[in-house]
Amino acid sequence: MSNLRFQVLQEAFGKKPVAVVPPGHCMTEYYGRNVFSRRQMARYLSADTFKAFCNVLDHGAPFDRNIADNVAVGMKNWAMDMGATHYTHWFQPLTDGTAEKHDSFIEYADMPGGDVIEEFSGKLLAQQEADGSSFPNGGIRNTFEARGYTAWDTSSPAFIVDDTLCIPTVFVSYTGEALDYKTPLLKSLHALDRAATDVCHLFNPSVQKVYTYLGWEQEYFLVDEGIYAARPDLLLTGRTLLGHESAKNQQLEDHYFGAIPQRVQAFMKELEFEAYKYAIPCKTRHNEVAPNQFEIAPIYSEANLANDQNLILMSLMHKVASRHGFKVLLHEKPFNGVNGSGKHNNWSLGTDSGVGLLTPGKTPEENLQFVTFMVNVLMAVKRHNALLKASIISATNAHRLGANEAPPSIISVFLGSQLSAVLDQLENADRDQAIVLDEKRRMQLGVAHIPEVLVDNTDRNRTSPFAFTGNRFEFRAVGSSANCGCSLIALNTAVAAQLREFRQTVDAKCSDGMSKEHAIFDTLRQYIRDSKAIRFDGNGYSDEWRREAARRGIDCETSVPLMYDAYTSPESVSMFESTGVMNHTELAARNEVKWDTYIKKIQIEARVLGDIAINHIIPVATRYQSALLDNVYKMHQVYPPEKALRLSAHDDSIIEELSEHIASIKHDVDAMVEARKQANRIASERSRAIAYHDTVLPWFESIRHHVDQLELIVDDELWPLPKYREILFSH
Ligand code: ADP
Ligand code: MG
Repeated sequence: MSNLRFQVLQEAFGKKPVAVVPPGHCMTEYYGRNVFSRRQMARYLSADTFKAFCNVLDHGAPFDRNIADNVAVGMKNWAMDMGATHYTHWFQPLTDGTAEKHDSFIEYADMPGGDVIEEFSGKLLAQQEADGSSFPNGGIRNTFEARGYTAWDTSSPAFIVDDTLCIPTVFVSYTGEALDYKTPLLKSLHALDRAATDVCHLFNPSVQKVYTYLGWEQEYFLVDEGIYAARPDLLLTGRTLLGHESAKNQQLEDHYFGAIPQRVQAFMKELEFEAYKYAIPCKTRHNEVAPNQFEIAPIYSEANLANDQNLILMSLMHKVASRHGFKVLLHEKPFNGVNGSGKHNNWSLGTDSGVGLLTPGKTPEENLQFVTFMVNVLMAVKRHNALLKASIISATNAHRLGANEAPPSIISVFLGSQLSAVLDQLENADRDQAIVLDEKRRMQLGVAHIPEVLVDNTDRNRTSPFAFTGNRFEFRAVGSSANCGCSLIALNTAVAAQLREFRQTVDAKCSDGMSKEHAIFDTLRQYIRDSKAIRFDGNGYSDEWRREAARRGIDCETSVPLMYDAYTSPESVSMFESTGVMNHTELAARNEVKWDTYIKKIQIEARVLGDIAINHIIPVATRYQSALLDNVYKMHQVYPPEKALRLSAHDDSIIEELSEHIASIKHDVDAMVEARKQANRIASERSRAIAYHDTVLPWFESIRHHVDQLELIVDDELWPLPKYREILFSH
């Protein structure tokens, strides 16, 4: 068979599951084997160093050079016992994924050219110059003085990948600006800890620290690697730019939670096996809604650690998939007509004594604390809804949002009817009634019976981008390929600023002579009123909601480049600066990077689309047309004119249809190329991104339409690209 498509299909369907995980293994034997955990530290560090380092980790004790040197030696010995020869500072630049530059442990023992030894010092562990001139920085660091450095994030454990010791680090410029996601994430976690701890002190003075938790759920598609390779669009852009919908896709909903195909199951098993070695506590795996779509989710943990684990898992997925003949698609919308992939971020706060601040409590005080945090989150989301949307949007996630199967591109909060009722009651209670916390009066408030009503918070609204789910919020608009850090930075900072303002307001009321309880209730009631616009429990996909949201003053912008403006609005800048998370320069630089990335993604897609349409599709359509013409010609040779006309009528109409589609494709591709040329002349990143959105992107749909129509009429044997049914139903 000459057609590549048939070859790869034949191979794909012949593939058998690959069993890699050794049978009869015990998970606890290898769990965490690849991370320098406290257990390993206790083995490889001296008792004094171990104690001193734990003091740094747990209580923020000063991290002096001496401790760093000793930790470095222990870490190196552990890594070498694990077979490592190299080390790298592992960081999270503003691109997708992570970056690393490997150096070997090798050093001259005493003089250049002499004997070599394996060495690793505290200095190398703690800080490294990253010659990262080609990492996006939004103009913060001129490339001719490409000096940024990476510095160890001691709160996340070092780990080993193959022969390399990876040290989680922040990436900052020499002038101190963050060039990555981790730096502002850590700052936002710190700001949130401080603000939340201050608010906790209104209820419980013994709270010392508030942790932010993240439990991500990672959705993805698996595609046979041969089929993937036969689709230039998947190969270069991660999504299909063309392809008519399959007759069957997800309408029967038979894939969701169905039996996992064997080849996929073998992949999942090995992925979990590998993930456990990195102490990623994978818990759930299942089929998702679309064919060939799946999900993996661990148990939640501290947010910075959970985010690092998500990034490690994403790279493990690619590695493991290749051993099973699969490609993992982390793109948010690889296929039209079936669901896209998200990364639900389950987010919550908890104190150092294990009290969940978004978990309804057992006592009136705990419930008042719960309601306080709940209402402050509502206020934060209300105030910064445009920013939160900007934090999850990208060229890729834009295809998923607003489609009828994903969170809408308007941020609202789902609370469920019972919790809404509690807030309504609180809002309308008169002041004296509200502050009484005795057994009888509490009932009138609704604060007391929260635990009972929330236990069964099952009416989850799948159309909500930000939903309360019993003891946490679930931010569902986050994209499957994103670094969770990006949205966490915005959310943490918004809540931190809000909590700080709450505490200040309560304090001010108290110094005006109000009792503490009065002041809390008073402020909460005001907040409940002020944040009402963000609450929405209805259908987020409906047109009525779009109109209603606009009326309520919620951000309804749909153009990606314009959404990014929310980062530098006066409210955002003041929020980020007052919490010490980022300054105006950093925010502006990040937007430059976002616009630039947006442009490049659309530019690549436009090139690939033009190339496939002109070089792959039109030649095939023309070939088919010529075969039909040949047939018509021969009919006229063989039969009398009238009969020939009658017999060739069908071919004639297809020939015309082909001509029309071919002409339209040519026209649209030319117009798209012209639009690109015009856009490329624009100097400002923002304006260029807008031009790409407004004038280049719209051609995609019409080109696709004509190509997809051709797919329906051209001889199947000639069609060069694997079709949707073949990509989505092979495993
Ligand atoms: P779903 O029905 O949304 O799939 P799951 O029970 O699978 O929900 O949980 C999704 C994620 O939420 C898991 O990672 C889980 O550990 C996490 N999670 C549960 N409780 C919390 C919490 N209090 N804070 C943060 N994440 C949580
Ligand atoms: Mg969920």
